[in-house]
Amino acid sequence: MNPYWSKIAQEITPYQPGEQPVDMNYIKLNTNENPYPPSPAVLKALAVTADHKLRLYPEPSAVELRKVIAAYYQLVPDQVFLGNGSDEVLAFSFLAFFNPDDTIVFPDITYSFYPVYCSLFKAKHRLIELTEDFSLPHVDLLSGASQGFIIANPNAPTGRYLELERVEQLLKANQSRLIIIDEAYIDFGGESAVKLINQYANLLIIQTVSKARSLAGLRVGFALGQQGLIEGLTRIKNSFNSYTLDRLAIAGAIASFQDQDYFLTSRDRVIQTRERIVAALKKKGFQVIPSQANFIFISHQHHKAEQLFAQLKLQGILVRYFKQPRIENYLRVSIGTEQEMDTFLTVISALIKEGD
Ligand code: PMP
Repeated sequence: MNPYWSKIAQEITPYQPGEQPVDMNYIKLNTNENPYPPSPAVLKALAVTADHKLRLYPEPSAVELRKVIAAYYQLVPDQVFLGNGSDEVLAFSFLAFFNPDDTIVFPDITYSFYPVYCSLFKAKHRLIELTEDFSLPHVDLLSGASQGFIIANPNAPTGRYLELERVEQLLKANQSRLIIIDEAYIDFGGESAVKLINQYANLLIIQTVSKARSLAGLRVGFALGQQGLIEGLTRIKNSFNSYTLDRLAIAGAIASFQDQDYFLTSRDRVIQTRERIVAALKKKGFQVIPSQANFIFISHQHHKAEQLFAQLKLQGILVRYFKQPRIENYLRVSIGTEQEMDTFLTVISALIKEGD
């Protein structure tokens, strides 16, 4: 503890991202990155943009990218907000829409950054207990005082998808509360709630180019919602950092949205691999939560997840393990290339055989 730290720096427990090892060539199935490279059109756009103009600031609202994203989702540019990764968009959402002491509701098993933002921005949170199979229960979820609801759809780390009809029920029943749908993984099989935006003023969707578009290293996330919500986010951004997106990020993201064929092909490859691996793991006796994401959440009755995690790591395969009540016997495994997943399957099959 450093004597100059503020109270908040002393008290907060920061979010812990998955490991990004530098020491060894792991098969990296631990941070839900896309195993395929970004579109060649993106790499070309980055190379072309890396020129003398880097001495200039970027256009602060990144309007060119907002136009491209708006056209892609049949919205207008004023319904699109951009940030340095969707984590930053989430952080700005807390400042734009919630006050200290507000209560924010989210599931007990979900993206572990949400409670960290609550601590950072002094909001309270209330957890909704997911059912045994990690589904959202069919009850009046938001009864009681609360100002907002955050739901990752598909959820992380389970991969479970909430049908659009249920998302709409939530929006309809809670028009006085902001509902944030974190759709970081929506492109891997779910249906986005984006078509509900013009109907529901309380809907904010957050997405990213980090997953289905293979651009986690570029740091571009975005929010979609009615104009008033986007204006609120913009007020916060412009009170924090005018230039959250750099010139390269803007150019790369534009090129990604313009290469639809590449996006669909690499996204479909991930989905196909996921389905093949799920079937194979089930045959080996694993329980697999149904996933519409680029990762799967698995457990085995006779083998402790923590041990499997450590043994996989020793053999050069990194997956994610959360030592947390209810999920301490699960592993989250990102979907890699066909070859990486074959190796994963061979290694984990040998491990469960050894232990029998
Ligand atoms: N939401 C969820 C549910 C995530 O899993 C992640 C990735 N860790 C993010 C948001 C943040 O993604 P990014 O900041 O790379 O856009």
